[in-house]
Amino acid sequence: MSQHAIQHITVLGATGSIGQSTLDVIARHPDRFSVFALSAQRQDRKLLEQVLRFAPRYAVMVDADAALRLQSALRAAGSRTEVLSGSAALEHVAAADEVDMVMAAIVGAAGLRPTLAAAQAGKKVLLANKEALVLSGQLFMDAVADNGALLLPIDSEHNAVFQALPAGYARSPGVSGVRKVLLTASGGPFRARSIEELRAVTPDEACAHPNWVMGRKISVDSATMMNKGLEVIEAHWLFGAPADIIEVVVHPQSVIHSMVEYVDGSVIAQLGNPDMRTPIAHALAWPERIDAGVRSLDLFDIARLDFERPDLQRFPCLALAFSALRAGGAAPATLNAANEEAVEAFLTQRIGFLDIARVIEACLERSPDFAVDSLDAVFAADAQARDRARTEIRKLSAA
Ligand code: NAD
Ligand code: MG
Repeated sequence: MSQHAIQHITVLGATGSIGQSTLDVIARHPDRFSVFALSAQRQDRKLLEQVLRFAPRYAVMVDADAALRLQSALRAAGSRTEVLSGSAALEHVAAADEVDMVMAAIVGAAGLRPTLAAAQAGKKVLLANKEALVLSGQLFMDAVADNGALLLPIDSEHNAVFQALPAGYARSPGVSGVRKVLLTASGGPFRARSIEELRAVTPDEACAHPNWVMGRKISVDSATMMNKGLEVIEAHWLFGAPADIIEVVVHPQSVIHSMVEYVDGSVIAQLGNPDMRTPIAHALAWPERIDAGVRSLDLFDIARLDFERPDLQRFPCLALAFSALRAGGAAPATLNAANEEAVEAFLTQRIGFLDIARVIEACLERSPDFAVDSLDAVFAADAQARDRARTEIRKLSAA
């Protein structure tokens, strides 16, 4: 007999890299977790497999045709899972009364509404979807505080910082004696490439990360180091840390997942093999610990840990993110939207790798100066930046 009440979980973005790792951990603990809903955009075959295995109450397919395919396949298999379609259904399964926790693992701004709905419904929110927080910042953190939600970071760096902070951390670095938040970065697949070499890199090279297997969008972000830039903004909101105390440390082995330095000189780090099941299991069971299926860290095999300063000449996206954080207002939403458009244009070979930063910089120069204090304002800033980015992309691809 288990001494735990079963936790009912909705996995948003179940077919993705984080979604699959989440289900891997959940499958190891049937006495603790039960899947309430799974969602995907349009990968009906993958979702079908997952639904047959986890038998959730709901399966949400955003794409209507894919939903029909999933529905008939499930009927044929005798499944009792109900298929919902459209993006409003994501909010429904994120906020339903029966749900205890929501894994927010949709990629990009598309994840904001359902993730916010989970926060507004006071759920335990496991946040992988960093773009949602970059986009909505204060609005999202207010929704968490006002509705008694519990926000736990899945991003490995933020999960590491969370683990290195004192229990009951007050979101106020000075008060808690925190001097610095040190975010580690692998440096991505192009850490050692020259600017000349970067000009000609391909989407497949950008997606071949040395340490982590991830979705294509975050893989490109990792190659440009925009991923670290988004994570700087994410750390600002999660931990109430001003830009000045957040430092990025390139650490190619990805064994230290991040660190917190205190005013007494202590530096607390979290180490582990680069496997997202560790932060996922940590957040699923918090404050307890459960097996994640991750092998033990072999320090003798690793033998050494290296550290470098990030090179902002070759990786200007990181500098752009710091300046968007310092500018505030609509700048972070603009940065995120422009980046999503530019990455998509790079992946579909309409622009080159170095053009990604050019598109974002052009958008930031004209970032609107209204306050992003409502969801409408967030999406207005997002839409303006996407328009502007598409114009820049057309210019660059014609050149
Ligand atoms: P992925 O591309 O592998 O999966 C994305 C998931 O979102 C899929 O299930 C897809 O169906 C769904 N999706 C995509 N577009 C959608 C839309 N418009 N509406 C609804 N659903 C949509 O991505 P991933 O690598 O799993 O990353 C997911 C999120 O987690 C991202 O925000 C990423 O930055 C973050 N993250 C990922 C990792 C990692 O190791 N993969 C690490 C840290 C943070
Ligand atoms: Mg990360």
